[in-house]
Amino acid sequence: MKLENLKNKIVLVKGDITEYPADVIVNAANSSLMGGSGVDGAIHRKGGKEILEDCMKIRSSQGKCNVGEAVITRAGNMPFKNVIHTVGPVWQLGKNKEKKLFAEKLLKKAYISSLELAEKNKLKIISFPNISTGIYRFPKELAAKIAINAVIEYFEKSDFIEKVNFICFEDENFEIYQNILNEKGIM
Ligand code: ADP
Repeated sequence: MKLENLKNKIVLVKGDITEYPADVIVNAANSSLMGGSGVDGAIHRKGGKEILEDCMKIRSSQGKCNVGEAVITRAGNMPFKNVIHTVGPVWQLGKNKEKKLFAEKLLKKAYISSLELAEKNKLKIISFPNISTGIYRFPKELAAKIAINAVIEYFEKSDFIEKVNFICFEDENFEIYQNILNEKGIM
């Protein structure tokens, strides 16, 4: 597929993921699914108790959500059909190369699992935050490359999803995404 053809399918937005229209938004959750800070806190605050109720049901039926996997709930008070909760990896400090490569694989998996779960649920417009780049301290540039490449890889296999919105809350992430998408000819 020509990357240029993705211009209409990949959208870069600066802002709050709970405020931008989509069929489904992705939450950068933690394995407990019980809510947290950052984007997780914002989504639970805006969505209200339905989201936590659904997360608790998932906890009692399947247990925790492993890193790289994704689960789906209702969106509560937000104007989306659903919320997909995925768990990104915590970045490994220190020099252990294998651990870093493993974290990179898991971050890619978090994006792919979310896209596949959206497709399974017939959700065509999906918004992603910059998973793992907050308190999980994944290097922002590397995380952005992984996120964009995972989405390109998905589009090479499937054209079910119509639009992927990358929602950057921080200027720094927005600029990083802008540069990478420009370099690839997608913007
Ligand atoms: P993680 O634990 O995966 O690092 P965080 O929520 O700490 O998750 O951060 C992930 C990214 O989400 C960060 O880039 C942070 O700036 C961003 N973020 C925080 N609040 C929002 C929001 N309301 N909408 C979109 N992105 C957000």
